[in-house]
Amino acid sequence: MEFGKYGGQFVPGPILKAVKEVEEAYLKYREDPDFLSEFHHYLRTYANRPSSLYYAERMTKDLGGAKIYLKREDLNHTGAHKINNVLGQALLAKRMGKTKLIAETGAGQHGVATATAAALFGMECEIHMGAVDVVKQAVNVYRMRLLGAKVISVEEGQKTLKEAVDSALMTWSSELDTTFYLIGSAVGPHPYPMMVRDFQKVIGIEIKEQLGTMEKRLPDAVVACIGGGSNAIGAFYAFIGDPSVRLIGAEAAGKGIETKEHAATMVCGRDGVIHGMKTLVVLDEHDEIAPVYSISAGLDYPGVGPEHAGLKDSGRAEYVAITDSEAIEAFRYLSRMEGIIPAIESAHAIAQAMRMAPAMDPDQILVVNLSGRGDKDVKQIARFEGEALVD
Ligand SMILES: *Cc1c(COP(=O)(O)O)cnc(C)c1O
Repeated sequence: MEFGKYGGQFVPGPILKAVKEVEEAYLKYREDPDFLSEFHHYLRTYANRPSSLYYAERMTKDLGGAKIYLKREDLNHTGAHKINNVLGQALLAKRMGKTKLIAETGAGQHGVATATAAALFGMECEIHMGAVDVVKQAVNVYRMRLLGAKVISVEEGQKTLKEAVDSALMTWSSELDTTFYLIGSAVGPHPYPMMVRDFQKVIGIEIKEQLGTMEKRLPDAVVACIGGGSNAIGAFYAFIGDPSVRLIGAEAAGKGIETKEHAATMVCGRDGVIHGMKTLVVLDEHDEIAPVYSISAGLDYPGVGPEHAGLKDSGRAEYVAITDSEAIEAFRYLSRMEGIIPAIESAHAIAQAMRMAPAMDPDQILVVNLSGRGDKDVKQIARFEGEALVD
């Protein structure tokens, strides 16, 4: 297994063959200087990297503890960290001779990012999305179509991310020769969790360099939100070998972990298999995958990347759960305090910073990975707070 007792390739025969082909290709290109220089070229010139590391001065003074820096993944092209990963996988797909990208999406952000990469590289694109999320994220659906992608609305089960993954996998297995399955988080069968982490690790590498220049030292803690775990593993990875740096993942407690309406996989999950990997999974009393809930479509997933399950097991990283209400409070707080409207996913990480910063010393440094911008969430938050917006 790749990550302690977690990871693996738990997929049926035809899909295993395709996964092995991806594994072979990725291992071939992983350290290929030409592939890496092409990837970094697009990160720089197209995605707008490096993203800035911003000292949140008003927030720091208001909370009265650790010095807070925000890693501004919200400023990337398409407004989130997801572009890093889709550029890497689309470039790999091209090198494998594939002409079509297929993907699942929850919040719509990964779908938009995938459709963007497909347009950039002139590839065909098909996005599978739960019917519930299609309604919640109508503007992102329209964006994907604008970018030339075909959007499939999945009507199975809970009609959210889990079913969208199943549907995308099924289609992939019927067109393996032409199609590359582009996974949106650090999840799925090996090599996806490792590959997505490799494409996202630029976040932590940049944090280390930027903070090294500005403060001449390492941070004391790095905080990131956890859906499947890609922005978090990207922010954490460069610091895993630095034991003085606390790594803290903030997942979705929804309406509370004592209710059944949460997506707190790290805090409440048990060992299980989901989407081709062994990891922590939210299971019901019959050991079936339980329905999960979060106000945030991007954190609303019953599994988690196996590398996080391994980091929890080894004690290297810590994981906490943040409720909808805490996330909304943080969403409003960052908007007023810094003039930055965060994605509701990222607001879970901001909420954790608000919990812990006041108890830290002013000479300590806390970095929050601001995984994305919140324009997509404004309407839903307004509705949640009883203010229907007319447009
Ligand atoms: C998709 C998304 C997430 C959750 O995905 P991870 O793989 O856990 O990073 C978090 N923030 C934003 C802005 C997203 O779009």
